[in-house]
Amino acid sequence: MTRGAEAEEAVCRWLAEREGEMLALLEEVVNIDSGSYDKAGVDAVGERFARFFADHGIPTSWRRGDTYGDALRAELASPGSNLKPVLLMGHRDTVFPKGEAGRRPFKIVDGRAYGPGVADMKGGLVVNAFVLAALAAQDAAPGPVVALMTGDEEIGSPFSRSIIEEEAAAARAAFNGEPGRASGNIVSGRKGGIFLLLEVFGKAAHSGANFADGASAIGELAHKIVALHALTELEAGITVNVGTVRGGQSVNTTAPFAEAEVDLRYVTPQQRAALVAAVERIVATSTVPGTHARFATRGDFLPLVASPESERMMATYKAAAADSGLAVDGEFTGGCSDAGFSAAVGTPTLCGLGPVGGKAHSPEEYMEVASLVPRAQALARAVLRCEAGR
Ligand SMILES: [Zn+2]
Repeated sequence: MTRGAEAEEAVCRWLAEREGEMLALLEEVVNIDSGSYDKAGVDAVGERFARFFADHGIPTSWRRGDTYGDALRAELASPGSNLKPVLLMGHRDTVFPKGEAGRRPFKIVDGRAYGPGVADMKGGLVVNAFVLAALAAQDAAPGPVVALMTGDEEIGSPFSRSIIEEEAAAARAAFNGEPGRASGNIVSGRKGGIFLLLEVFGKAAHSGANFADGASAIGELAHKIVALHALTELEAGITVNVGTVRGGQSVNTTAPFAEAEVDLRYVTPQQRAALVAAVERIVATSTVPGTHARFATRGDFLPLVASPESERMMATYKAAAADSGLAVDGEFTGGCSDAGFSAAVGTPTLCGLGPVGGKAHSPEEYMEVASLVPRAQALARAVLRCEAGR
């Protein structure tokens, strides 16, 4: 086994020679539609990575689910080591509908790669896979390294959350391959988020003939929207956004029903408790007589809160990045990810370690091609140093 600086150099050299292979794999998986609700597509992306791992002699296993994409796990074992594994995380699902990959397949223009999920986060999956392969090829890992590729992150990981928590709890550190920021920075902190479906029930009546018999669910929802938006405290990092509304039956009927989708964001677990309590009060309080309401949680992301351990990890990563020719800092973002789940079980976690990209979730999403190899090298160095306790 090669160790220390020699191992790093061997691994980084191996990666440097593989940009073409990395791009070829990225093209293949970007061109497979894999929206969160497209289980067949999400699993097809998983099968492609399982084949990659098999080609590199890395064993894989699956955790199967009925509704969402299965969880793929690849482990580079380290016989004789009693270290806990380092965990490389990533998701295979995208926010795009079926047919998107056919409409705008993978392409490279002026050093930027485009296509659905190219940065968020098929680029990060390719980086994770090649880092594992590089460590395997050079027999360089001083401890076990696990890559976990899940399939439902964009909808709050309803299937994968418990698997992520289990793998993270067993790991000594977690690196999540979400896209690097457009600045090149990685993510050291993220907000938590809750998606709610709010339903308001009223009573239908002819709004000309029997107005007084009705109870307008839309009228009640309007009060609730104003009260919900008033919970926003920008300086504290708390935001409430009613993103969609729907309701009513006809123009001349008092609305028997109305609903809204609500996005709550917060920074700390304490804020979460107070925010949820305030929302419960607003939902339970009716301003329009004869109406009532309820809400259901549709997604629940925990915040990525920095810890002394994750700050040490950040220092390790920054040095690893510098040695790979990258100037990188930590950045806070309001966007949520699976990193919140791994951090919440007490495992030091860094996020945004994938290739540099931007405009995620839009047709303009791009990935900087030149960042692919150096980000892989920085991650490989960080994994090696993390395992060696440096
Ligand atoms: Zn993502």
